[in-house]
Amino acid sequence: MIMQQVKAYGTEDPSTPLHELTIKRRALQAHDVQMEILFCGICHSDLHQVKADFGQYPPPIVPGHEILGRITAVGDHVKNFKVGDLAGIGCIVDSCDHCEYCNEGIEQFCQQGVTFSFNSPDKVSGGHTFGGFSKSYVCNERYVLKMPAFENLAAAAPLLCAGITVYSPLKHWGAGPGKKVGVLGIGGLGHVAIKIAKAMGAEVVVFTTSESKVEDAKRLGADFAVLSSDADAMAAYTNKLHFIIDTVSAKHDVNTYLGLLRHDGTVVLVGLPPQPLEIGAFNVVMGRKSFAGSNIGGIAETQEMLDFCFEHNITADREIINIQDVNTAFERLEKGDVKYRFVIDMASLTQ
Ligand code: NAP
Ligand code: ZN
Repeated sequence: MIMQQVKAYGTEDPSTPLHELTIKRRALQAHDVQMEILFCGICHSDLHQVKADFGQYPPPIVPGHEILGRITAVGDHVKNFKVGDLAGIGCIVDSCDHCEYCNEGIEQFCQQGVTFSFNSPDKVSGGHTFGGFSKSYVCNERYVLKMPAFENLAAAAPLLCAGITVYSPLKHWGAGPGKKVGVLGIGGLGHVAIKIAKAMGAEVVVFTTSESKVEDAKRLGADFAVLSSDADAMAAYTNKLHFIIDTVSAKHDVNTYLGLLRHDGTVVLVGLPPQPLEIGAFNVVMGRKSFAGSNIGGIAETQEMLDFCFEHNITADREIINIQDVNTAFERLEKGDVKYRFVIDMASLTQ
């Protein structure tokens, strides 16, 4: 297969800072579009992977899966995009497209294995996929999202992972009028979850470990914000919430939050703490409670989420950086020092 050279930022192993390198992407195929990347968000999953929290990936690792750009070329059979269109690529860039799950629109669970936009075995060109910390991406149009005309494109990029990861479970578990929804952790995912849950009509209560975020949570739209170290404030929510979305990236005690659920309530984990979490039996059997998980969302649902966010004027609070500052951004993300998503201006990576 003919390949093209693309400038990117990545690393060979966890002890080496990210640096400029050249990767090979496939040349445009008949169903592919090529995109010049304008902005790419930095998700905590990028950090987990660079740190090899879930094991070491084959080098080099090029992170980035909140990819927003402009189409620069289309293959002969492309129907839905033309040169000049704004477009997005999230976590999914390929799937079998015919299994039961792909047919149901949950390609992220493809029975033959989904291909993620980063660090995934690439079934089309071999090797593995490289993410959006790069100048351009080539992808089958089936997995490319139409970007509504957001005024601030940098602020819209994080919707491509953070947005869909919280929209999908909020919708699945019925966040809406009459529902009290908890959001655990105010980071990239959590702050978008507050905005989306409010737009869906739910009452939103936020739980944070950071004092500085208590007031800010209300600015973001939360009805109530609780510092999780405040035992009295926590106790006031015992058995009160219908549903809690847990976005915490590190090991934490989920039993506390199961205790805040009403009967038949659910804590849904979207955060990916590398260590196993423990659950006390009585914390779920009493009240018939559930502890569940959710992983991003399918392509059609991602498009639905983008359109929903555009309609409700929802984007991420972002801090824009140049690619040369990505290692400092990772260090700050590790410490929770970002309000609330770093977004890389990819123009800073010169050809
Ligand atoms: P983030 O911006 O770093 O936010 C995580 C938040 O969790 C922090 O801001 C902090 O909020 C809280 N937190 C961190 N360490 C904690 C600890 N030890 N105890 C309690 N709270 C803690 O990360 P993100 O980008 O939103 O991603 C969050 C997690 O979701 C990551 O693990 C990421 O890999 C995962 N993820 C999963 C999916 C999926 O599809 N399932 C998709 C994207 C990301 P406070 O300061 O408010 O306490
Ligand atoms: Zn992500």
